[in-house]
Amino acid sequence: MPDPNGFLRYDRRLPARRPVAVRITDWREVYPPAGAELIREQATRCMDCGIPFCHEGCPLGNRIPDWNDLVRTGSWDAAVESLHATNNFPEFTGRLCPAPCEAACVLGLGGQQPVTIKQVEVEIADAAVARGGLNPRPVPASTGRSVAVVGSGPAGLAAAQQLARAGHAVTVYERDDAIGGLLRYGIPDFKLEKQHIDKRLAQLAAEGVQFRTGVDVGVDVTAEELRARHDAVLLACGALQGRDTPETPGRPLRGVHQAMTHLVAANRVVAAAGDGRPAPAVLPDGTPIDAAGKHVVIIGGGDTAADCLGVAHRQGAAGVHQLDLYPEPPHGRDAERDPWPTWPWVLRNYPAHEEGGERVFAVAVQEFVDDGTGQVKGVRIAEVTVERRDGRRVVTALPGSERELPADLVLLAIGFEGTEEQPLLAQFGVARNARGAVDARADWQTDTDGVFVAGDMHRGASLIVWAIAEGRAAAAAIHSYLGGVGTLPAPVDPARQPLAAR
Ligand SMILES: Cc1cc2nc3c(=O)[nH]c(=O)nc-3n(C[C@H](O)[C@H](O)[C@H](O)COP(=O)(O)OP(=O)(O)OC[C@H]3O[C@@H](n4cnc5c(N)ncnc54)[C@H](O)[C@@H]3O)c2cc1C
Ligand code: SF4
Repeated sequence: MPDPNGFLRYDRRLPARRPVAVRITDWREVYPPAGAELIREQATRCMDCGIPFCHEGCPLGNRIPDWNDLVRTGSWDAAVESLHATNNFPEFTGRLCPAPCEAACVLGLGGQQPVTIKQVEVEIADAAVARGGLNPRPVPASTGRSVAVVGSGPAGLAAAQQLARAGHAVTVYERDDAIGGLLRYGIPDFKLEKQHIDKRLAQLAAEGVQFRTGVDVGVDVTAEELRARHDAVLLACGALQGRDTPETPGRPLRGVHQAMTHLVAANRVVAAAGDGRPAPAVLPDGTPIDAAGKHVVIIGGGDTAADCLGVAHRQGAAGVHQLDLYPEPPHGRDAERDPWPTWPWVLRNYPAHEEGGERVFAVAVQEFVDDGTGQVKGVRIAEVTVERRDGRRVVTALPGSERELPADLVLLAIGFEGTEEQPLLAQFGVARNARGAVDARADWQTDTDGVFVAGDMHRGASLIVWAIAEGRAAAAAIHSYLGGVGTLPAPVDPARQPLAAR
């Protein structure tokens, strides 16, 4: 029986982050383990409130009050089991999820502080490893059916694990040189050390999942060849088409890059240093993959921008500005605009923000300034207002508000425009919709029979928790398509949207 008064006895507390001065000298994770006593105390704050709204916030349907209580009573093995019943990769979501479950927690009502659900989750996930590793599940007799999963991000991997555990032969095809999707080279090590991916991949391999890296489907192997080899195909290729700003004067200058061009290269350097491989030193255009001594301007306000900020400081940037088109959000929930339990628009401070840099809100870039040799030397910005008119965004610069920021390196982190245009699409007979995503029917099939889609490729750039949920649901649909016995869990349908007030 949960403690109904735990939240009255204990305040919300998180483990102290590693000191800034120490952590920007390395690439290790920002948070140390919380420790058993702190986490038991925090789990005790969950009152198992009868109608657990935290469930509404989480697309996976995680059994949050159940595992909170199991941690409270020290029943760690049962907590590990309960958590994995709904989530294939809690070590990823526990570290990286923005936690819509916490925004929906009943304790967040009336200005109280929600349960530290995500922290409890990651401690349970790490306990699974500490208590003997991520043991492979016994695999049932083979069904004789085979599935190709294209793309090895969290959507593809979750689907692969679910299908292998149902007895299907699964092969994951990945064009990169390592498995993991954005978790591998998109998200820096200070948010997710790659050992966590490797441990989980060992479990998947032991359960029978085959991995083929360096295979660009549509180029190295055709859709026709893949369909001849497998009974069903899941496309989980992500939404990696970066938004650009070709109309801004000076965009072609050297030193102005898509954020992912710099970020992925920087993360590859860290990976190479870890396993002794030679590291790339320059980008294809000859620009060094290094912000050391440079004035960096990051344009954008989301995860990608914050990750670039953390990377720039670890590389030794001389100074960093992070620009946002929109005004500074409120510091707490505006209940009129975003009533509980919806996801609120508030100022999000990532650990990278306490490491330095200056955030500048309500500004737009007017020009990237040339130093006379074709290299960027500054960014001319103006203060702006942003309105919606007839469903369109209208940005108006305030006359006389222009100024120039020094910039040797400019990173465009202004969002994604859906899945990439690539040969695979036409070969499988699927098309990008108006949002650049690929539509799924109610059974997760695309317009082509036997070809399914999940994750960011279907939803547009989103979150890991949604990718896992969609991967699990698509696996359930594929299992049923292949005539598998029984059903697999399907936490979401293709039309499911996050909780919203309107
Ligand atoms: C910089 C950054 C930071 C982020 N931080 C967070 C965070 O902190 N928390 C969070 O919840 N979310 C975060 N996200 C979002 C999250 O990473 C994505 O929502 C999630 O990874 C999507 O998973 P996915 O499996 O759909 O696709 P992806 O992870 O994008 O994986 C798709 C894979 O498909 C492969 N592929 C594409 N085409 C082919 C082909 N033709 N053949 C073979 N392989 C192919 C790609 O190489 C890639 O590996 C972040 C995103 C970015 C860009
Ligand atoms: S809403 Fe909060 S208090 Fe209620 S069950 Fe979920 S985590 Fe516990």
